[in-house]
Order: sequence, then structure tokens, then C-alpha cells
Amino acid sequence: IVRLENIHKQFGPLEVLKGIDFGMETGQKVVILGPSGSGKSTILRCINQLETFEKGAIYFRGLDIAGMKAKDLRRQVGMVFQRFNIFSHLNVLENLIEAPIQVKKTPRKEAVEHALALLDTVGLADKRQAMPSQLSGGQLQRVGIARALAMDPALLLFDEPTSALDPELVGEVLQVMRKVAKSGTSMIVVTHEMGFAQDVADRILFMDGGKILQDAPPKEFFKNPNCERVRNFVKTIG
Ligand code: ATP
Ligand code: MG
Repeated sequence: IVRLENIHKQFGPLEVLKGIDFGMETGQKVVILGPSGSGKSTILRCINQLETFEKGAIYFRGLDIAGMKAKDLRRQVGMVFQRFNIFSHLNVLENLIEAPIQVKKTPRKEAVEHALALLDTVGLADKRQAMPSQLSGGQLQRVGIARALAMDPALLLFDEPTSALDPELVGEVLQVMRKVAKSGTSMIVVTHEMGFAQDVADRILFMDGGKILQDAPPKEFFKNPNCERVRNFVKTIG
């Protein structure tokens, strides 16, 4: 569904991505692990055209994204951020139907039906009239996921969706993400949640210093780290 070829990205003199190559099939779940500053968020942002890059190419469903409009790309590639990207002046239901109606031109009735089904999925059917200020962090993040799903994305990118949450709220969001994974959506998830990585990922990518050091199924990743750096990482979390 997506393929990155030799992506290089610099912020001024700082080389953030030093030749990233990876591809994933439709329906796969890929988890990206790695230390702070290693370039994880930058990869997701490049895939969604939130960042440009100097070298290399990204193909989405076989098309070079350089030739796609950001709007068209983002209709198909949803993103869930660490901080909830929802509109504070709209209630929960309005948040979910806004993009389908405005961007996809979905009829309102259909958008509402889809939104209600999604709110059911994320366990917030009773909050459809609530304003964001009335919700907990975990509930807000579940709205954020439902909002991304409302566009029926072919690929969903998650950038540390639970790391801004109080520990007791992490579980409910991970549970929703597991549900989304089961539904077959292609997902790339940057996270520090090892349980999730182990259970859900088809592959784990380990990044450090702007490079992918290992790309392996979870079993192999945790049992047979391919280098010292990954071994130490697995040890410290282990
Ligand atoms: P974290 O785990 O802390 O979120 P990360 O792996 O997501 O880290 P990135 O956010 O991709 O890391 O950042 C990689 C590097 O690029 C970091 O050194 C960061 O400071 C730098 N960087 C990111 N965005 C910018 C920007 N807009 N301008 C300049 N430097 C940036
Ligand atoms: Mg990041």
C-alpha cells in the first residue's frame, strides 16, 4: 500500500532521515520503535505530505505522492496525533461528520449513520452530543481515532497516540486501536507500548539516528535483535 525509497530529509544542517527504505502490503500493521529524535514522526509526516524531503520517493498505492495533491492523499491516509486533533468548537458527532461532508461530499444522513456506528466502535455512543471540553483525554483520543476512521482511510498513521495520556487512560485507547487493527485497516503506529507492538504488529521497525536498524516480525525482533543497539533497547524495555 505504501513504499518508501531512499528517503533523505534534512532540517537545515541536521540530517534527520538518512535513506529510509521500506514497503508494506495492504492490511499490514507496522510498528515503529526507536529513541527520541530518531526520525519516527518525520517518516509519518513525509508519508502524509506534512513534510517535504530532499531525496527519494514515496509511493502510495503505486502512485508517486509527489504527483498527488495533499488533499487527495489525506483523504486516503488518516493520521492520529499524540495531541488530540479535534475541533473544540464542535461536538463529538459534528467532529466526525465534518470531513466526510466537506471533503468527500458524503450526504449528511449517511455521514451521521457512519459516525454513530464508529462512536459505537470506540465506546462513545452516549457522548455524541458532548463538547470536547467535557471529555477525558482517553475519550478525546478515541474521538480522534473515530474521526480519522470516518474518512474510511486506506492507511492510518498513529504518532504516539497514547503517550500524552494518564496511565489509567492508555488501556482504553489501545483497546480501540486493537479493534481497528482487527478490522483490517493498514496501520503504521509509532508507539512505546511494547505489548501492543508484540500482539498487533506484523513487523517492527527499529529506528535510530535516521536509519532503520531492524525490520522484523515481533517474535524475531524481541528474540533475535540483529545488532547491539537493538539488543540494548530490547533489554531496557524487557
Ligand atoms: P520522539 O520520540 O521524541 O517523538 P522522533 O523519533 O519522532 O522523536 P522526529 O520528531 O522525527 O523524532 O525528529 C527527528 C529530528 O528532527 C529531531 O532531532 C528533531 O529535533 C528534528 N526536527 C523535527 N522537526 C523539526 C523541525 N520542524 N525543524 C527542525 N528540526 C526538526
Ligand atoms: Mg515523534
